[in-house]
Amino acid sequence: MASSLTRAMSAPIPDDGYSTGDLVPHGWAPGGYLCRACPDCGEGYSGDKRCRRCRACAVKSLEARRDRPQWQSGHKGIPTDRQVWAYFYVGTSDEDDVLLLRGVSGEDGEVFTVEHEGKPWGRDGHVVCWIDVEERPTLSVEAVEAAVASLGTRAFYYSGGVDHAVEDWLHREVLRAVADGHQDAPAIAAAALKSRELKFSRYCG
Ligand SMILES: [Zn+2]
Repeated sequence: MASSLTRAMSAPIPDDGYSTGDLVPHGWAPGGYLCRACPDCGEGYSGDKRCRRCRACAVKSLEARRDRPQWQSGHKGIPTDRQVWAYFYVGTSDEDDVLLLRGVSGEDGEVFTVEHEGKPWGRDGHVVCWIDVEERPTLSVEAVEAAVASLGTRAFYYSGGVDHAVEDWLHREVLRAVADGHQDAPAIAAAALKSRELKFSRYCG
């Protein structure tokens, strides 16, 4: 134990470009408190008394977060060789206008092939936003921001009506999530309301 504390005290300050401000959200801040064992790696380290992990593990946590797949707005960059999750505009009357689907997108994001009762089913519509993860994603602030960013960007002949429908769906979906006690309720509500600042046709015809 003494040796790991000695190592912690004499460890050089790494020059990796990460500031204290970058690392505090990931559980480390500088300070003279000597912790015997980081919960992640077991090494002794020095830092602020309220640290949750050592500096190296805080860097790892930050990099893992930076590298994680993120929601992308529209269909640009969507892989067409494998399944992704997407909020997909289907615009039918007996379902929601936008569905969270897992499937393979076409090049232009206007056909999304899902598996339905063991058979491929190409849905027509368009990709509102997408994320390249395995597990079904939950409605997050990033997802809402990506959906809002997709509004008013298309020049399709029907874009006004589609954007209007997507906006209505988004507001309904976020209200439902808030009513269900979403952990980031104020943030997803604020992100959804940003759509009202956008100028696009809200004419439904
Ligand atoms: Zn550690």
